[in-house]
Amino acid sequence: MLDPYGRSIEYLRLSITDRCNLRCRYCMPEEGVLPLGHAAILSYEELLRVARASVALGIRKIRVTGGEPLVRRGVVEFIARLAALPGAPEIALTTNGLLLAESAEALKAAGLRRVNVSLDTLRPERFLALTRREGLERVFAGLAAAEAAGLAPVKVNVIPLQGVNDDELLDFARLTLFHPWEVRFIEFMPISPDLESHNMTRVPMAEVERRLQELGALEPLPRSESAGPARRFRLPGARGSLGLIPAVSGHFCPECNRLRVTADGRVRGCLFGNQEVDLKPVLRGDGSDEALVALLQAAVCAKPERHVIGTPEFKAPSRRMHGIGG
Ligand code: SAM
Ligand code: SF4
Repeated sequence: MLDPYGRSIEYLRLSITDRCNLRCRYCMPEEGVLPLGHAAILSYEELLRVARASVALGIRKIRVTGGEPLVRRGVVEFIARLAALPGAPEIALTTNGLLLAESAEALKAAGLRRVNVSLDTLRPERFLALTRREGLERVFAGLAAAEAAGLAPVKVNVIPLQGVNDDELLDFARLTLFHPWEVRFIEFMPISPDLESHNMTRVPMAEVERRLQELGALEPLPRSESAGPARRFRLPGARGSLGLIPAVSGHFCPECNRLRVTADGRVRGCLFGNQEVDLKPVLRGDGSDEALVALLQAAVCAKPERHVIGTPEFKAPSRRMHGIGG
């Protein structure tokens, strides 16, 4: 699938729920959100149909996300069915890790290849302040279980925020000395003006890189296929690696290969945009597979050339991150 700017679209982010067991300040309001009703959320059968059509169109990798994907009942069986689709797409998962310890082995057996665990602090009291819930111990247990299950390389996604967790950058980086994990620093994206976090300030990746050098010369690593736009490094003697992802300032748009599907069945060509194509009328109205394919292609054709976040043209997306899937 080539979009109008010649980009080959091969990566689908599939959100299976907008619900979550955390309330991260930059993602959700304190009171939570009115969850989309049962009828609004695509069934697993519907999600599989979307995935099958996408793979037939050239999608090679599917990342299951949310909300928190592991809170949806039946997710392990769903992942097994995704992995068994004709074309054998590579299946990955993004999770906050709270429920990972109990499911890592079953997920691996189901065919999951890799897991990204989002974690912004290594301090229990700060975890509570940032996510408004307890659970750091469970995330650590989840990381260990993922590693033991062979969901390699385990990736840890960190969003550095000035005055919030930027005093922990080196602690996160040091994790790679002892664990074969990839610790990735990702720029905060201010897409939800209605959240108190809107005024949080991202730490630019150049600054993160500068600070990490306090631990020694960073050895550049080749870009791995699974790393997406991350620039990768290794600390001297480390078992794991580091990744830097200037998601906002880096302007990866020319190499964007992604399509997103929300839990309520809208295809989005851009994380920061507002254009959506609704799949539900076809999925629920006895539409043919050809009609579904045509909608997916329409979403690809509507992919903007680049995001305009940070410019006066930017209009915040109608959804927060938990409703898009990151
Ligand atoms: N609940 C899962 C998790 O937290 O990993 C999956 C969904 S979450 C929306 C996906 C990713 O989006 C997480 O890594 C999270 O840290 C990130 N995220 C949420 N809001 C963000 C924001 N405003 N800027 C940058 N990343 C954000
Ligand atoms: Fe939940 Fe993930 Fe959003 Fe945190 S970032 S509130 S874990 S969906």
